[in-house]
Amino acid sequence: MAGLIVSRLWPALALLGFLFTSAGVGAGPAAEHLAAAVRFPTVSHQHPGKLDSEAFNRLHRFFRSTYPETFARLKVEVVNGYSLLLEWPGQDSALAPVLFTAHMDVVPVEPGTAGDWSHPPFAGVIENGVIYGRGTLDDKLGVISLLEAVERLLQQGFAPQRSLFFGFGHDEEIGGVQGAGAIAQRFRERGLYFSWMLDEGGYIISDNPLLPERQVALVGVAEKLYLTLLLKTRGAGGHSSRPPPTTTIGRLAAAVVRVENNPFPAKIVPPIDTMLTRSAQHMEFPMSFLFGNLWLTEPLVARILGDDQVSSSFVRTTTAATMFNAGVKENVIPQAAEARINFRLLPGDTPEMVLAHVTRVVDDPEVEISALPREGARAPVAAMEGGGFEVISRATRSVYRDVVMLPYMMPATTDVRHYVDLADNHYRFHGALISMGQAEQVHGTNEQLAVESFEQTVAVAVAILEAAGQP
Ligand SMILES: [Zn+2]
Repeated sequence: MAGLIVSRLWPALALLGFLFTSAGVGAGPAAEHLAAAVRFPTVSHQHPGKLDSEAFNRLHRFFRSTYPETFARLKVEVVNGYSLLLEWPGQDSALAPVLFTAHMDVVPVEPGTAGDWSHPPFAGVIENGVIYGRGTLDDKLGVISLLEAVERLLQQGFAPQRSLFFGFGHDEEIGGVQGAGAIAQRFRERGLYFSWMLDEGGYIISDNPLLPERQVALVGVAEKLYLTLLLKTRGAGGHSSRPPPTTTIGRLAAAVVRVENNPFPAKIVPPIDTMLTRSAQHMEFPMSFLFGNLWLTEPLVARILGDDQVSSSFVRTTTAATMFNAGVKENVIPQAAEARINFRLLPGDTPEMVLAHVTRVVDDPEVEISALPREGARAPVAAMEGGGFEVISRATRSVYRDVVMLPYMMPATTDVRHYVDLADNHYRFHGALISMGQAEQVHGTNEQLAVESFEQTVAVAVAILEAAGQP
């Protein structure tokens, strides 16, 4: 609760924080390290040829000088030039290792929006107890908190029984094939299999709509599956002064409208059922009854959540028409038109089901429908008690005393898809306390994290590594 009170008092404390920062008393070394890491513009551009190799090389040099024990005592491999694989060998080689992953690359700043930031996105400014910049949440937060934790544990003389591995990719934001994909391949070649793994994905939310009065730690135990369908149609084309009754554009537009008008049904599936049932234990009547008795209330709850644009993504396979291309000149009827519709599939739904549904509702043999290829797979829903979930929960509670731990499903995807076959259970979580507003700044404007929150993230990472290293 203390953290919540602090965050509520934040505006009042801002002036005080400014005085401390000005006097040089503000951020500790860990926060300074995150700010410094932000200053290396390790941007992933859609075109891999635009990779700024110097930015990555400088970031690596920064790691080696900032975390000397880590880079001296762990086995370090550079993968595909820019990704890092670190191994901290355990005392007992019979125990299955645990894997921690994060990514060093960040998304670009949208052209024309840099001026909307309170500080330039790659300046790494700390002001009034807040670290500003691209990557403070996604995902230099993950890389730096893990490296801080390893360095701290090495300085304390900690030696894990179980081997701990770290995979830091350099291209997650454009699919992760060169980074996480190649790291995963090295693990396969060595015959490694992990007891569980932890990647980015969930945070501790201070104002979650489910339990707005509580700090809620969302541990990602599942993610939706990404699928894009391509819809194509061809026709006669010709001069627009002599048009046929239906053009390629009209035919394809009608098909897209039919797909939009036939959304997938809202339903409560694992892990959302567990998430709701566990949150019900902290709610008051009637919400506690509604969410706590899904055996009875599932259709009603699914409908309520499905009617809201944000919560809808948790209860249905979503449909988003994202591209529509046809025509080159205003007086020429195009001979071809194509559209792309992006779906995010609930656990249990498959690409075959989506393709069959779309083919049925489009109901037009002139519209050709196919799935676009995509690397990687989807991990099954991870265990929501015991093992890694318990390690993460205990570690988080040791730092945030009154936190509510909930399993969570990520609506977006992560590098986890490259490691599906390498672990029993895949989790996605950072021990950073943020607001819903901050979560929206990921990939957007003014990405930021409070210094206090980052220090707590490192404390959670230390506790997780310590516990993960035990037999
Ligand atoms: Zn990320």
